[in-house]
Amino acid sequence: MNDDLPTQLIDTFGRVHTNLRISVTDRCNIRCFYCMPEHNVQFKPRSEILTFEEIVRFTKITAGLGVNKIRLTGGEPLVRQNLDQLVRAIRGIDRIDDIALTTNGILLADQAEALKSAGLDRLNISLDTLDPDTFFKISRRSGLDAVLAGIEAAQQCQFKKIRLNAIAITQLTESSILPLATFARERRLELRFIEFMPLDADDAWSQDQVLTGQKIRSMIESEFGPLVPKTDVDPSQPSTDYSYTDLDLCVGFINPVSQPFCGSCNRLRLTAEGQIRNCLFSTVEWDARKMMRSGGSDADIARLLVECISRKKKGHGIDSVEFDRPQRAMYQIGG
Ligand code: SAM
Ligand code: SF4
Repeated sequence: MNDDLPTQLIDTFGRVHTNLRISVTDRCNIRCFYCMPEHNVQFKPRSEILTFEEIVRFTKITAGLGVNKIRLTGGEPLVRQNLDQLVRAIRGIDRIDDIALTTNGILLADQAEALKSAGLDRLNISLDTLDPDTFFKISRRSGLDAVLAGIEAAQQCQFKKIRLNAIAITQLTESSILPLATFARERRLELRFIEFMPLDADDAWSQDQVLTGQKIRSMIESEFGPLVPKTDVDPSQPSTDYSYTDLDLCVGFINPVSQPFCGSCNRLRLTAEGQIRNCLFSTVEWDARKMMRSGGSDADIARLLVECISRKKKGHGIDSVEFDRPQRAMYQIGG
């Protein structure tokens, strides 16, 4: 691309960034309280959202800087029209060897096959509960049956991996944990529990709502027996993974609040409107859209990426008194 540019995105703490999370939309078909406001959501006008061509161009530039893993997210990525076309275009980029998608699953039954044939490797499907009332309390919408149909359809499609993601919230989802674990065991699906982070739009997060990974792990162990730490894991993954003793199946815990994993973070993010972020909790963004739309060259954008990564902080500091909550909620960043 240009001789003065590095071939890797390495920050001042030596973390090499190989993982890009792309938000393809800030829109969603449900309204989870930990992510979005219930009413009057301020979505970005469509003209501000990156086109597929812009996303592909940006992704190619990051691939030149060592990125090889892509995750598409949102908002709800499946509400973006023709998402399979974006997957197919990213599949064609040299050096990208893994494409994953995080979805709430509601539209998945209709799209799973097209996504698989476009080249999607892996799917994370968010499912916090199997109880319709709790589902409604969380998402302020119905839709559990559609999610379950989406899981079923996806399992027919032979993706490399399908994983369920569950947010755990004190009292609200405690009674959902063992049914979810049973469901995942019966269907041989990996399950990961994620601690609730202060990224809700209503700014109502409090530490006492966080059901810690450690607590969930002991609930699961008391029902299914001891969990054995997995050893064949990617050291940069945010999850601490275990296997059941009686079943070779992974159950993992992402504990950003109780056990931050910033030290091995290799992720950067592109928001739906083309802002580069070096952390979920970043309060600063780098405007790739403006650069792309004002005639910036690939090398200019690469320099913006290098600058963004060079300014990455050591950790998010949720537990510190100086913690400065991002102004943007999860749906505006891309989870
Ligand atoms: N709409 C898709 C979905 O729900 O899977 C993708 C976007 S969503 C923002 C990505 C992930 O972030 C989901 O698994 C969701 O549960 C999680 N998430 C949203 N808000 C969160 C919060 N405040 N703390 C922790 N995880 C959160
Ligand atoms: Fe939508 Fe996903 Fe946010 Fe729920 S977590 S409101 S499904 S974007």
